[in-house]
Amino acid sequence: MIVIGAGIAGLAAARALRQAGLVVTVLEARQRIGGRVWTDVNDGVPMDVGAGWIHGPDGGNPITALARQAGAATYMTNDDSVMVFDAQGVDVTDRQFSEGSKRVAALRRAVESAMDDDAVSDTSLAAAIRAADDTALADPYVRYELTSNLEFDTGGWLEALSARNHFNDDKYPGKDVLFPGGYAAIPKLLAAGIDIKLGSVVSAIRHTDSYVTVESGGVSYTADYAVVTLPLGVLKQKSVVFSPDLSAGKQASMGRIGIGRINKVFLLFDKAFWPIKTQYFGFHSPLRGRYAYFVNYRTFSDINCLVTFGFGEQGEAVEAMTEAQLIADVSPALKTMFGAAALAPRRAIATRWNSDPFARGAYTFAGVGATERDHLSLAAPEGKRLLFAGEHTHEIYRATVHGAYLSGLREAKRILAAASA
Ligand SMILES: Cc1cc2nc3c(=O)[nH]c(=O)nc-3n(C[C@H](O)[C@H](O)[C@H](O)COP(=O)(O)OP(=O)(O)OC[C@H]3O[C@@H](n4cnc5c(N)ncnc54)[C@H](O)[C@@H]3O)c2cc1C
Repeated sequence: MIVIGAGIAGLAAARALRQAGLVVTVLEARQRIGGRVWTDVNDGVPMDVGAGWIHGPDGGNPITALARQAGAATYMTNDDSVMVFDAQGVDVTDRQFSEGSKRVAALRRAVESAMDDDAVSDTSLAAAIRAADDTALADPYVRYELTSNLEFDTGGWLEALSARNHFNDDKYPGKDVLFPGGYAAIPKLLAAGIDIKLGSVVSAIRHTDSYVTVESGGVSYTADYAVVTLPLGVLKQKSVVFSPDLSAGKQASMGRIGIGRINKVFLLFDKAFWPIKTQYFGFHSPLRGRYAYFVNYRTFSDINCLVTFGFGEQGEAVEAMTEAQLIADVSPALKTMFGAAALAPRRAIATRWNSDPFARGAYTFAGVGATERDHLSLAAPEGKRLLFAGEHTHEIYRATVHGAYLSGLREAKRILAAASA
């Protein structure tokens, strides 16, 4: 068996197949495992450059059990521990969660009821919000809430999100937890004992009714089955050639599902000048999606670090900046929020998921016209031997680590069923 990609989906599939006694080889383009789950420790600080939280750790979320097996400590974050500042630096937390949240809830109800009518075609969430209330998006309270919650969670910019299906994913229960020591403990656990060929960039995949051949760096690998866990961004780019070409149905679904342009920026300081017990800081940034939200490391470690974000168009803007530009760009926001005591960061380290050739974006969302069926189509095998896993193939838990994990198990099960038939 061949598995393409040593992210969570690929590692989950490989581990399950190996545990069932099959011989598995994983081909991974990077010189590391984990894909979009990785902890960079180069600066002496564990920085989760991709996934940070187990979203909904209770109710049987499989990542919780893996964290326990790995002996990885987790820290429960408190969404209610938040301070929100307006564009002038005034603490508007109470108003945000009374007026702002109420207005957003009303808007979402209005969009939902407009989209309930099947005769109405899907449109972008931005257009549907404007149709419900054309002043709403000019309100900084609304803009803040939509960007820091919805655009962050879904990965999609309001202008690109499906008004009908932007948020119908299911969730496990429980308050989100993160890994003070780093999320990389999970891929490390899953990879134990698996034959993983790092630095193996797959360029072509050929399949027939009897076998699959995978080309990587001049080497051909042939197997009974292959599980493709290439991220949707990589599939869309067509940097890997499939023969026969991917079915028209799969390609149409690939077009409808969008890819979030989300980047984190780790800001390291010589000392903390912010309230160290508050979990999150919000900011009515004049640019929607740029430095609207900050995670405070000091709540779960002694590292003087704030993590901020660029979402959507601002995700790309942040990615394009050098470190010096980022420091100059974020410093006024910090001064506005925390006053004269605010220091410039000593370092500003941005993740760059869009330009990463092995990711091409952060995580997937329902674009205009997309439905659950598109995720099912992305999950469907091509022919008898080529299978697909990855967060984008999970119709309920897309865009998450647990969704990726469950998709890998699903495809391992499919192979085991086919092999024993
Ligand atoms: C900034 C960010 C924040 C996130 N936050 C969270 C969070 O808090 N909680 C959460 O649950 N999820 C979060 N996610 C989403 C989560 O990380 C992903 O859904 C999940 O890790 C995807 O796993 P995967 O196996 O499907 O894909 P990947 O992890 O991308 O694995 C695919 C693998 O394929 C490899 N590959 C690519 N091209 C080739 C090639 N040509 N040849 C060989 N190998 C190749 C890649 O290198 C990679 O290792 C976040 C993601 C990002 C980017």
